[in-house]
Amino acid sequence: VGDSADFDSEVDSICPFCGVGCQVSLKVKDGKIKYVDGINGPANEGRLCVKGRFGFDYIHHPHRLTKPLIRRKDAPPKGLNVDPGNWQTHFREATWDEALDFAADGMKKIGGTGVAGFGSAKCTNEEAYLFQKIIRQGFGHNNVDHCTRLCHASSVAALMENVGSGAVTATFNQIENADVAIVIGANPTENHPVAATFFKQFAKRGGKLIVMDPRGQALKRHASHMLQFRPGTDVSMLNAIMHVIVEEKLFDQQYIEAYTENWEIEKAHLKTFTPEKMSKICGIDAEVLRDVARTFAGANAAMIFWGMGISQHIHGTDNSRCLISLALMTGQIGRPGAGLHPLRGQNNVQGASDAGLIPMFLPDYQPVSDDGVRSAFTDVWQSSDFSSQKGLTVTEIMDAVYDGDIRSLYVLGENPAMSDPDVEHARDGLAKLDHLVVQDIFLTETANFADVILPASAFAEKSGTVTNTNRQVQMGRPAVPPPGDAKEDWWIEVELAKRLGLGWTYTDPSQVFAEMKLNMSSLNNITWDRLKNEGAVTYPSTSPTDPGQAIVFADGFPRQDGRARFTPASIIAPDDAPDEDYPMILTTGRQLEHWHTGSMTRRSYVLDGLEPEANCSLHPSTLRKLGVQPGAYIRLTTKRGSIELMAREDRAVSPDMVFLPFAYVEAAANILTNPAVDPYGKIPEFKFSAVKVEAATVP
Ligand code: SF4
Repeated sequence: VGDSADFDSEVDSICPFCGVGCQVSLKVKDGKIKYVDGINGPANEGRLCVKGRFGFDYIHHPHRLTKPLIRRKDAPPKGLNVDPGNWQTHFREATWDEALDFAADGMKKIGGTGVAGFGSAKCTNEEAYLFQKIIRQGFGHNNVDHCTRLCHASSVAALMENVGSGAVTATFNQIENADVAIVIGANPTENHPVAATFFKQFAKRGGKLIVMDPRGQALKRHASHMLQFRPGTDVSMLNAIMHVIVEEKLFDQQYIEAYTENWEIEKAHLKTFTPEKMSKICGIDAEVLRDVARTFAGANAAMIFWGMGISQHIHGTDNSRCLISLALMTGQIGRPGAGLHPLRGQNNVQGASDAGLIPMFLPDYQPVSDDGVRSAFTDVWQSSDFSSQKGLTVTEIMDAVYDGDIRSLYVLGENPAMSDPDVEHARDGLAKLDHLVVQDIFLTETANFADVILPASAFAEKSGTVTNTNRQVQMGRPAVPPPGDAKEDWWIEVELAKRLGLGWTYTDPSQVFAEMKLNMSSLNNITWDRLKNEGAVTYPSTSPTDPGQAIVFADGFPRQDGRARFTPASIIAPDDAPDEDYPMILTTGRQLEHWHTGSMTRRSYVLDGLEPEANCSLHPSTLRKLGVQPGAYIRLTTKRGSIELMAREDRAVSPDMVFLPFAYVEAAANILTNPAVDPYGKIPEFKFSAVKVEAATVP
């Protein structure tokens, strides 16, 4: 820490971790970032959490990839067997020309639907746009996806279906104008910490905070109501709340008539979901359900926030449909302090989705099946038409890889060897690939299986825009150069595309942004220069000087007739129900100190120092029953596999549950998780697996 005189430069950029999108000032001395401070961005207003403030040193970690690498001909068989500090037995250094030729030649040789791509929600909007363009223009199909499939795909499916737009209807900061807020299936104190500070201030001012989560959490201390419902019973609980609103005529008839459709069907559907009956399923007292219904329906302005506790279920789309219906029947959309807000996970998962890094949509969620839409893109790209069929999603691509239908995979900044459900299946698939191209900043678990590795750039080493959970498009700026021969991701994509014969001529990411604007009306009035000068503009922006609309859909919805839709949801049991052999429930998630598969935060001195060891949390009574002391080792076994790790005592976890963070390769949570997916969002059920828990010996 020091003042300006202590640094060679100070550069404003965006925190690379969560979807809050805090603006940061990077303080540089002798070519290294020494210190990070929060600045007055529209989302964070100067605040930062422990990751944003102390989690930047991974950028300078000795494991950074600094040269392109090609797998040695005499390398050991592919597997999770490469030491990132000692990779020479498996790979040899190559020049950029050699590595790019090798990558492109392998992809061309296999060609067509034999090639697929996993892009990244950690890259910039321009890099996400270029990545989907490589697959569509270069191989003629839509088999391109990214980690949105593993986080909010079901929320987006429900929002697109019923509201006509996949993004939030109001920024989270609008909570300052609300008097009631629901936070369900989200743990913002750990996963969106700066957003959580606004939620706590709301409660302090007297706002009623209704927290609903099978796991107790820090926000509980600030809640007017804490509903710790049984895992997987969201639909029964939410339908019971809506039943009360109908029964007691607490709905907003005027709003429903003006702005919605399908109300009578929803109303009839809710009839049987009485709180008394649903209470037996969700475990929440009927009177509490009635009280929550009256509190929410009685609000002047109310918001609903949700996270992956809602989306990562085989009924994730149904869960989200319920939340949308609740907001619609009470008219809580389109006004200050009212709205729907799925808290997006990765720093640029909103932007990467907007940029078309999904198999069913081109940029701005324009369907690939629409001939006019495709031709608008091929006109700009000056290329021939590509498939009108929806492409494969992340888990479908991994199945096709395993089955040998996809033989070449291009992975940019994702880590399916850690992040996919039933991850041993994914690892076996990766080992079978004829040609795996990995573009990353570290030799990740996925890069262990690569044929060629392209060393890329961290957020603080490049220019580019990112879009946070609030729809705020923000400018990221380079503070330090990439290490060694590592390159900016957009440069690598352009060079690869040239070798694939796509004729790309971009020399700067601003040119990519300008091209994106040609077919993305969401970016109207937002220019590269504006973002450079203003730092952030929220979309939609109505004029070249409008900072953007924090609240949307005041006058109707981007659907037919401008009406949002009620879609009734019925109860669907989790796929992997507990039984005699696997009697408990496993749920996975993040911790405050670690980010996703740990490739960045486990290389951060402070963050890994705070949480250095794989762990899981159980209720004290469960540990007592097992005869296990807190800190001792336990074995978790599901139908997919088994891991051993340290057990923690945590009263927030109910006695029949285990909470398991997924950042630790030495006890990878996804060895255990269930690959069953929601039929609409195709998102796996990470939040519910039947599990057996036993005492184990400390290794
Ligand atoms: Fe970074 Fe999210 Fe923390 Fe903000 S809240 S500093 S964006 S991790």
